[in-house]
This record gives sequence, C-alpha cells and structure tokens, in this order.
Amino acid sequence: MPRPCRAPAGLFDAACPLRYDSARGSRSKDMTVLRKGVLLVGVALLATLLACGRSQNAADPALSAVASAIPSLPAPPAPRTFSLCAVGDIMLDRSVGRMIKQKGCKWIIQEVAEDLAAADFTFGNLESPLSTVGAHDPPNCVFRANPEYVKVLTLAGFDMVTLANNHCTDPGREGYLQTLKHLDRVGIKYVGGARVRAQASWPRMTTVNGLTVGWLAYTDLDFPVDCPSRVPRDLCRHREQIAAVKNKCDLLIVSYHWGQEYWEHPSERQKQVGHAAVEAGADLVLGHHPHVLEGIEIYQGRPILYSMGNFIFDQRQGPRMESAIFQLRYTEGQGWTIQVVPVHLPPTRLRPEYPPPAKRDAILRRFAGYCGRLGTTTEIADGVLRIEARPAVSADGSSAPLTQN
Ligand SMILES: [Zn+2]
Repeated sequence: MPRPCRAPAGLFDAACPLRYDSARGSRSKDMTVLRKGVLLVGVALLATLLACGRSQNAADPALSAVASAIPSLPAPPAPRTFSLCAVGDIMLDRSVGRMIKQKGCKWIIQEVAEDLAAADFTFGNLESPLSTVGAHDPPNCVFRANPEYVKVLTLAGFDMVTLANNHCTDPGREGYLQTLKHLDRVGIKYVGGARVRAQASWPRMTTVNGLTVGWLAYTDLDFPVDCPSRVPRDLCRHREQIAAVKNKCDLLIVSYHWGQEYWEHPSERQKQVGHAAVEAGADLVLGHHPHVLEGIEIYQGRPILYSMGNFIFDQRQGPRMESAIFQLRYTEGQGWTIQVVPVHLPPTRLRPEYPPPAKRDAILRRFAGYCGRLGTTTEIADGVLRIEARPAVSADGSSAPLTQN
C-alpha cells in the first residue's frame, strides 16, 4: 500500500548554505574580515589604474597582473550538521509482544523503518525492559519483553535509547542488567541507565559529523519510581549537572520522562525543568511519558519537545494512538529545523504507520494548536509540520541566544 504521508525529501540531505556569522567561534569572523580586506585592496588598485586612463579590457596585462596579485584564500569551512530522528515511548511487551510473536520484528516496524534510519542518529524511549527473568505482570503494567525483540530497534536503525523511565526496573536488578546486556550485544547505546547505579545519570558522549554530542536522561515524575537517574529536587543542582556536561560537548541533548499521563499540554513542572535545562546549556530537550503528543516550545531558541507520544504501544484509544516521528536537523550557527511527520498506531496492528491524508492533517492541526499555546509558530505543508529556530545576531556579533523566526 502506498504511504499516504512521507516527509518531504531533503531535510536530511539538503545542502548546507555557508554562513560566516557562526556563533561558535571567531574563526569564521576572522575569515570574513580578511576577505573584505583583500577585496578592498583589489578594488583600490583597479580604481587607480582606471583613473590613469587604462582600458578595462580583461586582456590588459596590467589588469591581469593586478588580478593575479590578489591571493586566493581557502574556502571557509562548511558549518557542521547533525540530523536526528526522535520518537516517544516504545513498549514491546503485552499486546505488542503478542503481535510481534505472531507477525515478526520486521513487520512491526517496516512501515517507518526506512525514514527512521535515514538520520545521522535515531533516538527513542525504551519503556519495556528486555529480559527473560524477573517480575512480569503485563495487565498491571509490570513489563519485560522478549530480548529477541531488540531486533525491532536494530531494524529501525536506533542508535540510542533512554532507560530513564518508570518501567526500566520492573523486572528487578537482574532483568535490568539483562536489558543493558542485550542492548550492548546489538550495539545500541543507552543513556539514563548503567550497571553501577550511581553512574546512571552520567552523560553519554557521541561524535557525529565532527560534532561532539552529549546526552543526558532523567525521570521527573510525581510518583515513586525506582529509576536510578532522576532530576534532583534541587533544580540548582540539576542546572550544575547540565552545565558541567555542556562544557564538554558542542551540542547537548537532554531527555526527560516527565509530565502527566494523557495530558495534552505540559505541566508547570515540565516547563520549569525544561526551561532550567535550556538555561543551563541544553540545546534540545526531548520529553516523553504522557503517552499523547504535547507541543513544542522554542525557549531561548532551543526546542523543547514536551511529549513525543506513543511510538509503539497498545493503548488503543484516540490520541494515545496518534503520534509522530520528529525529524530534527541542527546546523552550526543556524539553529534547528524540525519536521513533525504524523504516524498512527491502528488498534488491530499496533505498529506505527503513516495515516491517510484526512487523519494525517487532523493530527497536524491538533499538534499545531498545542504548539501555538506555547507561542510557537508552525507551518503545515506537504503533510508535515515545520518549525524553525534560528540564531539571533546580536549587535556586537557575540554569541547570542537562538530565537524563532
Ligand atoms: Zn512512563
């Protein structure tokens, strides 16, 4: 069946226009000054010659000599880029597990796998541990999935999952450690989890296209959760945690399992924590747990995705089965471009699929409304919602916070 909705080609392979006002450093600015200087010298020489009555004929040997005297400079380096596909909650147990057992790992992800894997990096929230041992009571939301189902993640090209959620320790310590082992086995990185409990909130660092990308993941829920990586009650301490990592990377992404289930708008606490993360240095905040979509806020030019909804889940009710793939592209000095590509999870199939146009557009309009409430300007075209966050250029040319166009 043809896919009724695909992201427009080009977000992940568009040519990157050169800019010289990169907020990252003086190198580009120095190049600009140098090029301007050379140009001025050349213009002055030409003007002198013309004033002396010489011809403008390009074949004039004096003009040729002037032209060859202008040194050619190396082209300035292209800004570095990072493309990311991010999705919400992935649960491979309960009805989804039965569906995978019946249809296979490839079937459950095949409608969207190609687009997920197209980015430099693919990220999601693994809401079900992968273990053969430990507590297991799916009707009461005590999850552990067949470890072989990790193949769903590898087939979709996931590079990293967060384990900082309210189900990571459902099967107990042995089940938790098995989850880490199975992710290690297939080469999928994880953040918000570690063999040593005290290290679960440590950052994971990755290098993509020459950019050092730091990752942090936490839970911040208002009920007791046995998750080893949690937002400290003292947000000052949390800011310090983030600022310390920001010093070690070019780009810092912070993931939060937070908010209220089924709320379509972020709570005050989500806003408080998300804003604190950005103020401390986060370049992007990725949220999940409400099991429905919540809007995107551009705060100080940095996107906060409050909730990315269910990506693979079996809740079978309206908005809980309407979700999206979030395609983000970061360009150094130019900020973020975000494309929201709707997906839905048909109750009889429980897998992400591209919805027919009427449903796709309804999801987009609803999502645009959520973003609008957060002050974010959106544009819907060709079946996707688009958001831009561009850098502001301050009067003194110094690094300025990003703002939305
Ligand atoms: Zn959760």
